[in-house]
Amino acid sequence: MTVKKEITLEDYERLFAIVADLVSNLDLNSLLTRIAQAGRDVTEAEAASILLYDEHARELYFQTATNMDEPTLRGLSVPLDSIAGWVVQHQQPTRVNAVDQDPRYYDDVARKVAYYTRNLLAVPMRTKNRVIGVLEVLNKKQGDFTEKDEHLLLVLAGQAAIAIENTRLFQQFDLISEFVHELRTPLSSLSTATYLLMRPEISPEQRNEIVKNLHKETLRLNELASAFLDLSRLESGRVQFDVQMINLRSLLAEVMALLNERARQVQVSLTLEIPDNFPLVPADANRLKQVFINLISNAIKYNRPGGSVIVRAASDGAQVHVDVEDTGLGIPAEALPHLFEKFYRVQATQHKAEGTGLGLAITRQIVEAHGGRIEVESEPGKGSVFRVWLPLQKNESR
Ligand code: ADP
Repeated sequence: MTVKKEITLEDYERLFAIVADLVSNLDLNSLLTRIAQAGRDVTEAEAASILLYDEHARELYFQTATNMDEPTLRGLSVPLDSIAGWVVQHQQPTRVNAVDQDPRYYDDVARKVAYYTRNLLAVPMRTKNRVIGVLEVLNKKQGDFTEKDEHLLLVLAGQAAIAIENTRLFQQFDLISEFVHELRTPLSSLSTATYLLMRPEISPEQRNEIVKNLHKETLRLNELASAFLDLSRLESGRVQFDVQMINLRSLLAEVMALLNERARQVQVSLTLEIPDNFPLVPADANRLKQVFINLISNAIKYNRPGGSVIVRAASDGAQVHVDVEDTGLGIPAEALPHLFEKFYRVQATQHKAEGTGLGLAITRQIVEAHGGRIEVESEPGKGSVFRVWLPLQKNESR
């Protein structure tokens, strides 16, 4: 073939060096970023992106792009009747020289990220017989994409697909082992409880007590499963956020009203301090509620009778921060670096309150998906402050 002749030994060497590098890199996000950059560079394009295919939803969603940042990308999906969708369905590459004249072109994304696409080349990322996604390069620096570009990108995409599959298998294995490990304790208490229930000598009162415990344990298991599912969906980046301009005062007031009764029961007071005319914040209202429900519930749970929780919001024009401050048990310094890891609970306080150890991991995922961050300061015996930062500007484009 003429194309193959055009491809020089150096081209292949360059490609193989990239591929060798890919296989040694096991973190999926950085792996995908590297693949996109490599695709962009070998084809002399301005930008590149990777879309992964979700077989259940029959939808493609952006996983990485060299010209977009995380919050813009997150959950951004394209339908199957787009150019990328065509590539998945036909399992074939496509080169489009005048993108705006192609009926398959889906300009929703272009508008969202304010990026003008002149021409593009999209190739399937294929493992044995499945297409797992699409590698796309946009705007060749000079002229149109060639058959040689297509060939090089296909080789890269094929190798990348294998690396992605391997990484996913590893991750799934890690996740499953972690979950199964966490199931052990509640399962063994369920089995003890049922064993006791079968004993003839236990009194009706004891029986009642055991049934109550069984009920509590199953509820906890259920909570653990839902939280774990939520976290793994958030971690995969597939969750779509419905970002609107949010009135933080009413959102926080609503969350606090929800938790008021719980606070009253343990004699903890709740106070909200937020200036008038607080700017609207771009966020997904339900997800943001989840963040503050988690933080304020913790501030109540790990508090003491007569204690207080103060929620304070402030803005500096570019970003806002919300502090959730409690007069509770505090967190030892050595625990602070692990606090946002999944299943992590502070040993000294874990018997004081029930929990899954997933709340803060979920909270951090949501805050970071909004382009924000979360910090904590704490003094054992005195209390803690969790501070959530959120940007005031939507990250439309860069
Ligand atoms: P949990 O379901 O255990 O509450 P989280 O992920 O929400 O899980 O929190 C992780 C751990 O961090 C908790 O188990 C607790 O030890 C500690 N923690 C969280 N918030 C506070 C707080 N306000 N005061 C003291 N400790 C806290």
